Amino acid sequence: MKPSAFEYVRPDTVDEAIDFLETYAGEARVLAGGQSLVPMLGMRLMRPAAVIDINRLTEELGQIEARGSETTIGALVRYTEAEGSPVIAERLPLLRTAIRHIGDRQVRNRGTLGGAVAQADPTGEVALVALTLGATIVARGPAGMRELPAAEFFVGSYANALDPQEMITALRFGVVPARCGFFERGRKHNDFALLSLAVAATPEPDGTWHDVRIGIGGMNQTPILARAAAARLEGQAWDDATLAEAAELALEGIDPPADVRASAEYRTHLLPIHLRRLLRGMGEDSYDG
Ligand SMILES: Cc1cc2nc3c(=O)[nH]c(=O)nc-3n(C[C@H](O)[C@H](O)[C@H](O)COP(=O)(O)OP(=O)(O)OC[C@H]3O[C@@H](n4cnc5c(N)ncnc54)[C@H](O)[C@@H]3O)c2cc1C
Repeated sequence: MKPSAFEYVRPDTVDEAIDFLETYAGEARVLAGGQSLVPMLGMRLMRPAAVIDINRLTEELGQIEARGSETTIGALVRYTEAEGSPVIAERLPLLRTAIRHIGDRQVRNRGTLGGAVAQADPTGEVALVALTLGATIVARGPAGMRELPAAEFFVGSYANALDPQEMITALRFGVVPARCGFFERGRKHNDFALLSLAVAATPEPDGTWHDVRIGIGGMNQTPILARAAAARLEGQAWDDATLAEAAELALEGIDPPADVRASAEYRTHLLPIHLRRLLRGMGEDSYDG
């Protein structure tokens, strides 16, 4: 299919991009990697008055920076760049692992971290990691800069909290727990996930775990935090009984869809089984991050 007609503009600076967003008064769409936007234009699911191509803004939006306890990833950083970055490997191994589950190499070569978060796909891996690790989404618009906690950013299926005249400039992460685990189950490679799980926690020498975070993707309109399950595991040694209880608590708050890929019952069935396995794996001597 062919998109409906739109203006195409290619700013040289973020300031210029924001001027365009203001000029088109919420009727423009930012083009980053195009891996979601271009198909949506082709299917006419979106009919913007203008497309603002931000691909020239690599100097301002294409950097990965480690400063003190913070790691900042520019919105235009491609999945492949993040996947191969030593800074991400050292500071955000959960993100690196999750990215490997995204699409295929072609998609990862083009798709951007900012685009992934803006897309707010309920099964999106980057959205899930951003929520689980408590990332901040940095946005800019005509009114200036805003910092949105990931927990407030995903407001519905493919819906985010950006103003239509704002764009994401970066994702910012703080210090994250020492260990992490990621699980995803789809019907086949490259299909939408039926269930994804992101977990992070820090083991102490006395055998207890702290700063436990559990994120669940694909079960609700947005990724969610399994707060009751995380609270059950906080400060505890993770014996089998505790893990089993936590895995059941993770069912609180889920609202799994039923669609061509799987029934709600099947998705519900998968969750406690795989969460328990993931958590157990994090505690094993053979854990390798
Ligand atoms: C075959 C295939 C398989 C895929 N598999 C997966 C998968 O397994 N997991 C997954 O999460 N995704 C998957 N995707 C989607 C892919 O990850 C997209 O790259 C991603 O969703 C959007 O990133 P992008 O840079 O391509 O954004 P674009 O397609 O350019 O934009 C997507 C949306 O975000 C907006 N946007 C982009 N950048 C910004 C910004 N800086 N500020 C504000 N708004 C912005 C656009 O206006 C648009 O609405 C797949 C895509 C394909 C084609």
